[in-house]
Amino acid sequence: MSSTFRAIPSVDAVLGELRSNGSWPHALAVEAARTAIERAREAVKEGAEAPDVATISAEAEAILEELARPSLRRVVNATGVILQTNLGRAPLSERAMAAMAEAARDYTNLEFDVAEGSRGSRHEHVRDLLRRTTGADDGLAVNNNAAALLMALHVFARGREVIVSRGEAVEIGGRFRIPDVLRESGAELVEVGTTNRTYAEDYANAITDETAAILRVHRSNFQVTGFTARPELGDLAALAREHGVLLLDDLGSGCLIETGDYGVEHEPTVRESLDGGADLTLFSGDKLLGGPQCGLIVGQGERVATLRRHPLARALRVDKLTIAALNATLMAYVGGTEREEIPVWRMLALEREQLEPRARAWAEAGEGRVVESRSMIGGGAAPGAGRTTWCAALQGTQGGEGLARLLREADPPIVARVESGETLLDPRTVAESDDKHVTATIQALLRAQSSGGTHS
Ligand SMILES: *Cc1c(COP(=O)(O)O)cnc(C)c1O
Repeated sequence: MSSTFRAIPSVDAVLGELRSNGSWPHALAVEAARTAIERAREAVKEGAEAPDVATISAEAEAILEELARPSLRRVVNATGVILQTNLGRAPLSERAMAAMAEAARDYTNLEFDVAEGSRGSRHEHVRDLLRRTTGADDGLAVNNNAAALLMALHVFARGREVIVSRGEAVEIGGRFRIPDVLRESGAELVEVGTTNRTYAEDYANAITDETAAILRVHRSNFQVTGFTARPELGDLAALAREHGVLLLDDLGSGCLIETGDYGVEHEPTVRESLDGGADLTLFSGDKLLGGPQCGLIVGQGERVATLRRHPLARALRVDKLTIAALNATLMAYVGGTEREEIPVWRMLALEREQLEPRARAWAEAGEGRVVESRSMIGGGAAPGAGRTTWCAALQGTQGGEGLARLLREADPPIVARVESGETLLDPRTVAESDDKHVTATIQALLRAQSSGGTHS
């Protein structure tokens, strides 16, 4: 036993074998060598033969490569869910990426009035485009929609009451719960109605001298069906005006165009919310808008100006890259080119006939079949909203989950969906430039399986 331990090579020996020796700082290479040697020791303790120096230095090499690999990297989204929070939501348009790269590379007029040579405001850059695309008096961008909501509640309702329907006091996801946000903002939640039915008079009965606002929240991740009731926004607006309280509308996704034109169910638009009488409408930049992560607050000029002047606007401000990407994204809507330019809409617009041959190619590569399925809009749009699609359905020898795991081991990883024991790959959310990578990965997995490969 002890002789086996003695057979484990020294750190210097491992370093001598290291191919990349010299390209890493010495201390890092030593750390990797030590870790590899420690693993060898563990293996010997378990009764294995001592690995030779080449094996251990290969292990050290792998540790260093892992270190060099960025933690945040791209994945191929074959789930068919267009807006996946876990996969980073909306991919950006070419124009948005170019704008970000330019802003990143150089100095900018972020807070500089070029004509006057004096200090400017970063908020100025987004106002005009937000007005133009939503019809609002004014608009403000902050870090994300959660921040937008927290800020609006803090500034306008701290120490006072906010009325929310029981059917809307929900958890949006990632432990983001409306009652918690309210509490953190310093406002007091007053729940009205029941989970399935809330009427305008429920809100009316709850209004007191302490009421600061009525908050509406888009049900973006669950459905209430059957015996349900929910007042029109216009009815709440009338009530809010009558009692001099604020009407806040958290739209979640915040769509700027008609989703019905894409063959999916109608999603409330920002314009509808404002026309319906919301004082402030809040939405995300990286959901159906198809832009960078940010939270947008649009509406009444005075209210937005109050928010802009508040210290929280400084704490929650967006950076120059976000402003660059947001404006480039909004410009697509101004020019009416969102269907061609913005990936979210381009993917949603794909017809089944365009998707079928791509799904077929993957199915053939994996000796599977082509099945009709549904692509979903996902995160922050109406739950269940989506379009029919074609998927490759693959079996694999280790079941759907096993195959999905192997697909995730590809570089870049391919993320698939598992349904009734089959792995489904939806081409709608996969860039065509990745089709070959998917095909090649499937073929390689199939070959490994048929040769009895011990891929785990
Ligand atoms: C997604 C969502 C939020 C949170 O938005 P983020 O931009 O992720 O902070 C808030 N409210 C609703 C209704 C949502 O759908």
